[in-house]
Amino acid sequence: MGNSMDLTKHTIFMWTRTAFIIIFFFFLVYYFSKQCQHTTEDTNNHVHERHGLDDTLLKTIRVIQFDPKSFKDGLQCAVCLSDVKEGDEIRVLPKCDHAFHMECVDLWFNSHTTCPVCRNPVVDQPEISVKLQDYN
Ligand SMILES: [Zn+2]
Ligand SMILES: [Zn+2]
Repeated sequence: MGNSMDLTKHTIFMWTRTAFIIIFFFFLVYYFSKQCQHTTEDTNNHVHERHGLDDTLLKTIRVIQFDPKSFKDGLQCAVCLSDVKEGDEIRVLPKCDHAFHMECVDLWFNSHTTCPVCRNPVVDQPEISVKLQDYN
């Protein structure tokens, strides 16, 4: 009888130890996969971090056809420094109401996030605009 009791105890001990090792192993795997995720996220952030305006944000900026009647003094595109003609597609910045040729300002926003005229950030991206100032 005593023998079988010892055997049961031994089996329980073996199982507990195995279970502990398995849990410990899973913990390690979990811990390292977390670490890896962090590294991947950081890398992704770096990829997304551009000096220009995000395409999705750019698309939110209003595009209208230039109508001389709404601009009594005419409109000069500050990017190409030429007058905007009737029917030209212009992008109007939401915060400062400055307007530019769509093609011109889209090129500008490849490398900037601020208005070409007043240098106000087009959208709230404080982190990127600070970096942009360093860059300039
Ligand atoms: Zn232009
Ligand atoms: Zn402006």
